[in-house]
Amino acid sequence: MIRTPRGLYGRAGFTTDLRELPRRALLPHEVRLQVLACGLCGTDLHFLRQMQEFTPLGHEVCAQVIQAGSAVTRFAPGQQVVMEDVAMCGVCDACKSGRSDLCRDGCTMQDQPGMADELVAHERMLHGAEGIDPVTAAMTEPLAVAIRCVETLAPDSGKPLAIFGMGAIGLFCAAFAHLRGAGPITMIARHPGTQRNQAAEEAALALGADRALYTQDAGWQEKAGLFDAVILAAPPSMTPVAMKLTAYGGKVLAAGVTFGEDHSALLDINDMVFGKKSLLTSIAEPGLHFPLALSLIRDQRIDVRRIITHRLPLEKAGEIVNLYEKDAPAIKTVILPG
Ligand SMILES: [Zn+2]
Ligand SMILES: [Zn+2]
Repeated sequence: MIRTPRGLYGRAGFTTDLRELPRRALLPHEVRLQVLACGLCGTDLHFLRQMQEFTPLGHEVCAQVIQAGSAVTRFAPGQQVVMEDVAMCGVCDACKSGRSDLCRDGCTMQDQPGMADELVAHERMLHGAEGIDPVTAAMTEPLAVAIRCVETLAPDSGKPLAIFGMGAIGLFCAAFAHLRGAGPITMIARHPGTQRNQAAEEAALALGADRALYTQDAGWQEKAGLFDAVILAAPPSMTPVAMKLTAYGGKVLAAGVTFGEDHSALLDINDMVFGKKSLLTSIAEPGLHFPLALSLIRDQRIDVRRIITHRLPLEKAGEIVNLYEKDAPAIKTVILPG
C-alpha cells in the first residue's frame, strides 16, 4: 500500500503504457484488492491489435483483499479471491425472473485494468478462492466463459462436437464438453505446424479433445465429416463453414467476436431451415458459473495449468508482443504484479 499503484493500458500496435493509478476511497460495499495474478485474454489481444484508443487491460483476476468497505461482511483483509468482471445485480426484473444472464445493471470493473497492482471491486463481484495457486485461480474467469458456451449449446453426450479455435476459450470448451460427455471432439484451427498450434493441440488432446484439423490442409473438410454441434471460439466469419459442417438438426454456437473486419458472414438460411440447423450465441456478461469453474479448478477435474504457458511481471508486460505477434508456443500468459 506504500507505492502508488500502477495499471496497464494498451492500444493497437501492441503499444502498452504502465500508468500510475489514483487510489480512491472505498464505498461501503467495495473492497480494495491487491492483484496477485491476471490472465491475458483474447479480448486484450484484440485491444492490442485493433483498438485505436488506450484501453485498460486484463480482467482474469486473482487477488488478495487488502481493505474492506464499512458494509462488507463476506470478505476481510488477507482473504484470496477471484473476480467476475461483470456481476449480475440480483435485483432487476431479469435477475428476479431467473434470467440473470440478461441483467444489464451489474457491477463492472469501472474501467480499471486488472493488470494492475490494485483494484477496487464491489463485493458482489468476488468469490473466495483460498488455497488455490493464484496463477491457476486466475483461470476461473475464462473457464466460466467456456462453461457458459457449452451450457448454452448443450451438446448431446456421445455425439461429435467440433470446436473452431484453439485459444484458451476453445481449449476450455473442449475440457468442459469432454467432462460433460460430449464427443468425439475435433479441434479446428487455421495453420498446421505453427509453434502456437502445436502447443495448443497438445493441450487440447490432454484436456479431452480427440483430434485437431487445420483449414490450411487440403481435404480437411472431408476428413472432418459432419458434427452434431459446433462451437465457434474463432472469428464470426467462420460461421458459414461451421454451418456447412453441421449435421441435420445440429447446432452452432458463435462465441468469438472481433473488432476488425471479419465480424460478419453470409449464411445460407435455406440450408439452415431445411437442415433444421440452429445458430446460438454466447457472451459471458454477466459472469455466471464462477462457483462451478472454481470447484473444477480446486478439485483439479480440469487441469487449467495445461494452457498456462508464460508468466510475466507487470513491468515486463510489454513483452507480450514477442509472444503473440510472432509465432511462439504461447497460449495463456499470466501477468504477475508485485
Ligand atoms: Zn477473458
Ligand atoms: Zn440484474
